[in-house]
Amino acid sequence: AGLVVSFGEMLIDFVPTVSGVSLAEAPGFLKAPGGAPANVAIAVARLGGRCAFLGKLGDDEFGRMLAAILRDNGVDDSGVTFDAGARTALAFVTLRADGEREFMFYRNPSADMLLTEAELNLDLVRKICSPEGHGGGEGGGALLSYDPNLRLPLWPSAAEAREQILSIWDAADIIKVSDVELEFLTGTDSVEDEVAMRLWRPSLKLLLVTLGEKGCKYYTKDFHGSVESFTVKQVDTTGAGDAFVGALLGKIIEDQSALQDEKKLRELLRFANACGAITTTKKGAIPSLPNISEAMQLMEGA
Ligand code: ATP
Repeated sequence: AGLVVSFGEMLIDFVPTVSGVSLAEAPGFLKAPGGAPANVAIAVARLGGRCAFLGKLGDDEFGRMLAAILRDNGVDDSGVTFDAGARTALAFVTLRADGEREFMFYRNPSADMLLTEAELNLDLVRKICSPEGHGGGEGGGALLSYDPNLRLPLWPSAAEAREQILSIWDAADIIKVSDVELEFLTGTDSVEDEVAMRLWRPSLKLLLVTLGEKGCKYYTKDFHGSVESFTVKQVDTTGAGDAFVGALLGKIIEDQSALQDEKKLRELLRFANACGAITTTKKGAIPSLPNISEAMQLMEGA
């Protein structure tokens, strides 16, 4: 089977024990392990795929707790390193009554920001590049997928965020942005095709724009279109985008021909939408990521 290696941060979100309050009003907080790349890794594993996480945690109780969560969920943690000096990243996050998310990060710097090139577990990267690692699917080869996961408070300025995020564009094969990120990166308030196409590069194999309850749009060099999502009772959208990406990557490493075959790609995105939709039906990210039977059930309307 193919291997997905997810690279980036894993952290603990602290979320208020009651909903609809500001961070200052919150009477207490619960630990919610997360970080988009870690959520993606767990999404892949829960759907039955092989996944490893590459990143750095603090050599502290929270860091060891997070590594154990990866292992307990079937994610290979051999790419996790621990920083002796810096703490595991924390983020206090709330969905206020007005629907806006409010973040407060404790990363000054946190361990995840201190991973050095020398600490990268290149064996994992070599495994993806091996014939075994990419599953030998049609049109195989290692793929680089990128999700900017914009968090403006982490950047010195909006201009810097835009410039740094776009600097990855030419290196990636697959890019997934949300509707909000599309608007931010293009400086528009539109998710129309002609706006999304501004983020297209000839080096890309697939550009995806997620649209929340409306599903997603896809762009390749040969075709583009949209795939509707499923109707669910939304409780908390945290992790929906990560479930979507995990579902997509787990499938695509098994059969890359979906990148050239629109019918196959649409079927795959239907699956990714279902996984995103399910994730919105429960609180938190990791607890609500679906397994394969939950995804199938939603897709078959059972
Ligand atoms: P987040 O940052 O909240 O993890 P995101 O903004 O990256 O998510 P969304 O567009 O919110 O991503 O959601 C990803 C996918 O999940 C959507 O493309 C859609 O398929 C599915 N989804 C999200 N919300 C809903 C919903 N309310 N109903 C049905 N499907 C949904």
